[in-house]
Amino acid sequence: MKFASITGYGKPVGFQEAILAGKAADNSLFAPTSLPSVSPGQLREWQSLSYTELAFEVLSMLIPNEDVPSADLQLLIERSFRHFQHKDVIPHHRLHSRLVVQELFHGPTLSFKDVAMNFVVNLFEYFLSKSGDYKTLMVATSGDTGPAAAFASLGKSRLQTWVFYPDGMISPQQRRQMTTIAGNNVHAVRVRNCPNGSDDLDALINACYADSEFRNEMHLSSVNSINWGRVMMQTVHYFWAYLQNVETTGDAIRFAVPAGAFGNLCAGFVAYKMGLPVERFVVCSNANGVLSTAFNAGKLSKRAVIPTLSTAIDIAVPMNFWRYLYFDNDFKTDLIAAKWEEYDKYGHVQFVPSPIMQGETISDEETRQVTRDIFDEYNYLIDPHGAVAVAGARKHDAIQTICLATAHPSKFPESLEKIIGYLPEAASHPSIKKQAALDEFEHSIEFDSMVDDVQKLMKS
Ligand SMILES: *Cc1c(COP(=O)(O)O)cnc(C)c1O
Repeated sequence: MKFASITGYGKPVGFQEAILAGKAADNSLFAPTSLPSVSPGQLREWQSLSYTELAFEVLSMLIPNEDVPSADLQLLIERSFRHFQHKDVIPHHRLHSRLVVQELFHGPTLSFKDVAMNFVVNLFEYFLSKSGDYKTLMVATSGDTGPAAAFASLGKSRLQTWVFYPDGMISPQQRRQMTTIAGNNVHAVRVRNCPNGSDDLDALINACYADSEFRNEMHLSSVNSINWGRVMMQTVHYFWAYLQNVETTGDAIRFAVPAGAFGNLCAGFVAYKMGLPVERFVVCSNANGVLSTAFNAGKLSKRAVIPTLSTAIDIAVPMNFWRYLYFDNDFKTDLIAAKWEEYDKYGHVQFVPSPIMQGETISDEETRQVTRDIFDEYNYLIDPHGAVAVAGARKHDAIQTICLATAHPSKFPESLEKIIGYLPEAASHPSIKKQAALDEFEHSIEFDSMVDDVQKLMKS
């Protein structure tokens, strides 16, 4: 199994190199040059596995044994899910016969980002301790990636991790998850006045990467979802949802996914390409509507970000869209290079969407309404991102749909209190309570002078 830039730039590389580099040398994304397939018989056999056992089976198909021998893979998986607080790791909550919530938020920082982040960071440490090297990670966050990367990196001797967050565009709880553990090898940076939130921070990080002197001096890499390892690991929860919820393997199922940078949904699409019987993906966007509109119109367009209740998906540049397009077009790198160039040049590009993708744009008003409905009907509190997925799913009630709930409600208590009218008990969590009493440590910079300031700060 080889890994190459999806634009065809450069030579294919091995797994370890693709993971440690984070992204390809032309600033594009690495992806495997082929995908393994899962047979119906295998799916049937996997039905009795626990989440971590299943992760081992799926990852064994996606990680060459010469890069990570089986015994090491087993240990890495165990270590990566040790801090999850539910016995099933990723439990499911059935609202009614056709509507199921997949709770991806029982990890240490209470969002779905923990699901892949701990594994990828542990993989970094594993490879780096073999080679004796170190890396500096620059992490842009729309609220949840930063906390997950900070937690996963804490105390890792071969990593320096810098998390950048857009001032005023994440919740105070998310901020404190970064600033209260900063110190030693983890650094939190507040970036003031960036109008397009984490998209601006991605652009900053790209600029730092493009400076090859700085990149080499700092040994820069990335654990954002541009890193193939993140997407790879996220394929597992689609298999898991399927196996835990269908009556008979072979039955079709639907997924409703709140989409931002599109890493999560792209992973689902990879699972589908590997043979998972998915009938449809509901691509759920908030009012930004970038991906929902793209799939319904067959045209991806650039726009400015508008702030919504579901802040973690206030994203207008969905990097993993290109990976999706690559997998859906038989790995044709010249097509991806041409489409991506057209998008950069004109701000929009047409493509032929896969017929299994259906976009839904969910307004804040719909998000509020569905949150109240679910709370009243089922006594179940869902965070604003999970609510976007449930709202999207409810528009297609024909077959069983798994709604991906990507954050614990306790990360958004202010919004939920306004929506419900009071603060339900389910909107609190002991770890969020505990950090409220801790000191915060952070750096602060202005977006305008960012590239210079960041480089000075990081070198110091
Ligand atoms: C990151 C995130 C998403 C979006 O996932 P992508 O892989 O970026 O599409 C959705 N909800 C929450 C809570 C998130 O943190």
